[in-house]
Amino acid sequence: KLVSKELKNTPTIVRIGGVPIGGRSIVVMAGPCAVESEEQLMVTAWAVKEAGAQILRGGAFKPRTSPYSFQGLEEEGLKILARVREETGLPFVTEVLDTRDVPLVAEYADALQIGARNMQNFRLLKEAGATGKPILLKRGLAATIEEWLLAAEYILDTGNPQVILCERGIRTFETATRFTLDLAAIAVVKENSHLPIIVDPSHGTGNWKYVVPLARAAIAAGADGLLVEVHPDPARALCDGPQSLHPETFERLMGEVAAVALAV
Ligand code: PEP
Ligand code: MN
Repeated sequence: KLVSKELKNTPTIVRIGGVPIGGRSIVVMAGPCAVESEEQLMVTAWAVKEAGAQILRGGAFKPRTSPYSFQGLEEEGLKILARVREETGLPFVTEVLDTRDVPLVAEYADALQIGARNMQNFRLLKEAGATGKPILLKRGLAATIEEWLLAAEYILDTGNPQVILCERGIRTFETATRFTLDLAAIAVVKENSHLPIIVDPSHGTGNWKYVVPLARAAIAAGADGLLVEVHPDPARALCDGPQSLHPETFERLMGEVAAVALAV
């Protein structure tokens, strides 16, 4: 298989707007769950950049559990992301929810995110892959590592080698955290695949208090980077406020992660 180390025994390095992921250094992608306004995104982007993040994240199309929850600003959100990229120089990753939106999202984004709920949307994998853009493939809520790697295989099979895997927690019997962050997946993926893997401790725990320790643990376990939700005012966030870090906490995360990265 194309994802497998048997076929390719050197780590794949994926570039998002010139930032290499899967090389020696840790890459942190950070930003709000959802783009809410230009001001919200601009303030967050400068804060995460100053703390050392290299890639901005922010959802314009949001996969919400309830149809009555904020669904995202859609194309206006993409335009805001592009303006903030222009100002800050940060490339961005954003989710594409549906095959119909692939051309639009690809026109703006530096990398396309396939969310957990779409990990096995095979048409979407193929159409997103065919854009040639780097793809951030999140693990499905109830997907085995093998199913996840086979989802990545769909993208690689389009001729697009630029896939980054993202562990974001899976459903288990545990209710103390929103999902159970499967840090073993890092070691298993590293054993079986050449693709880079990053970890999302925000969705993985659902609680900002657990994000910093799990970020440290992910780096200690060998992850190539992190995806972290940051909001200037988490209490007022339109999406995922409880798991979003204040910019000051994010700055602390970056310091602690750098110390762990030096030690491993
Ligand atoms: C997100 O990154 O905001 C998101 C919706 O992630 P997931 O698909 O992992 O739930
Ligand atoms: Mn979110």
